[in-house]
Amino acid sequence: MSDMTAAADRAYREALSVIESVEPRIAAATRQELTDQRGSLKLIASENYASLPVLLTMGTWFSDKYAEGTVGHRFYAGCQNVDTVESVAAEHARELFGAEYAYVQPHSGIDANLVAYWAILAHKVERPGLAEKGVKNVNDLSEEDWETLRHRFGEQRLMGMSLDAGGHLTHGFRPNISGKMFHQRSYGTDPTSGLIDYDALLAQAREFKPLILVAGYSAYPRRVNFAKMREIADEVGAVLMVDMAHFAGLVAGKVFTGEEDPVPYADVVTTTTHKSLRGPRGGLVLAKEEYAPEVDRGCPMVLGGPLSHMMAAKAVALAEARTPAFQQYAQNVADNAKALAEGLQKRGVKLVTGGTDNHIVLADIAASFGLTGRQAESALVDSGVVTNRNSVPADPNGAWYTSGIRLGTPALTSRGFGADEFDRTAELIVEVLSNTTAADAPKGGASKAKYVIADGIADRVQAEAEELLGKFPLYPGLEL
Ligand code: PLP
Repeated sequence: MSDMTAAADRAYREALSVIESVEPRIAAATRQELTDQRGSLKLIASENYASLPVLLTMGTWFSDKYAEGTVGHRFYAGCQNVDTVESVAAEHARELFGAEYAYVQPHSGIDANLVAYWAILAHKVERPGLAEKGVKNVNDLSEEDWETLRHRFGEQRLMGMSLDAGGHLTHGFRPNISGKMFHQRSYGTDPTSGLIDYDALLAQAREFKPLILVAGYSAYPRRVNFAKMREIADEVGAVLMVDMAHFAGLVAGKVFTGEEDPVPYADVVTTTTHKSLRGPRGGLVLAKEEYAPEVDRGCPMVLGGPLSHMMAAKAVALAEARTPAFQQYAQNVADNAKALAEGLQKRGVKLVTGGTDNHIVLADIAASFGLTGRQAESALVDSGVVTNRNSVPADPNGAWYTSGIRLGTPALTSRGFGADEFDRTAELIVEVLSNTTAADAPKGGASKAKYVIADGIADRVQAEAEELLGKFPLYPGLEL
């Protein structure tokens, strides 16, 4: 055991005994969560395992400090140490991604997108509106001028990837605020190849003329050409915003470079810090310098006081992401996704787009096994394999039952899995799903939720998964 792990082991043991003395159920759930995470094949594409230094950084008294405002310009006294934390995190983010400006306060990916949307609106609608009236601040507008400006906000258009093609709720989906605050239009993927069709996207953008073109995804298993996205945005006069929440780790690790790196091309880039980037839960916004004043108004525009302990943990994670070891990790994530995809395909599984070149594999379960995504997700969980059900393009089973499952390699790659282990993982998945059938629905026909796994399969796969995982311990040396 390294000195660092031994120290973390002591720290966590002590911490849990302190927690136990106040609320034993929380201490017990915390221990159980580690046991459960250790004992299952975690293939949720948006999850990972943060390092012990990142986890430890989250649990400090920075949580107790209010620090609304920005570095050196706070609405509270005594923020000198928060200033250090925020400056260091932003410096790492700028240097890691080669960004002109970084804002590390968003509490999550959704918050980062809200900050970005409001910053773009403020830059493109509010700033010219104020200039037109010769004032600096919205409070200096007359009531009538303020009403005119408010209406102008409501007239703006946003175009993002549709949910069933792999986009995110915050990219204009109606139940999300982004679909309510903007006139919204979605772009999909080519029905035959499953890939983004840039010519079709351009034609749609020419017709719709969005203020904001959003690129980025949650469940698209391919790389995006951001140079082409920039051309489309320029052609229609749109701001290009990229949400790289899912693939930030591949950008940080220099797997996505040139036209696949969104930072040089986009006006504003948002991300989460806890997915492939392997940091604490949180978000950040990168922007061209001209957007910095508006991005900096994230708090109080849509955020409360920054979570200083989380900004500190972001700084530690971003420092880790600047190492050669992280670059190797990111390359392994992409190589392992290919191994997983090939392992599934050679066993007869149909994949959306026919493969992957990022960290995501989207398996068409209905076409491959005659099950819904929901049945597959549940049968796999029973067998120690954690995935999530996901729509496939034009999904006949809708967003609740779905026809697919989404698989991702960031978490198990953090544990040390390589191509052989991902091939074995594919074998286990196929073993479960080819031995699972839809149960009868109470009213006749096949159920979309209930299923039957052939006797003995779930236990056998669970045992095989545990044996595989045993070779790649999670937080080795931590004995709680
Ligand atoms: N953007 C994308 C592309 C995502 O996939 C997600 C999360 O799934 C988010 C934003 C939201 O992140 P959070 O859950 O941290 O708000």
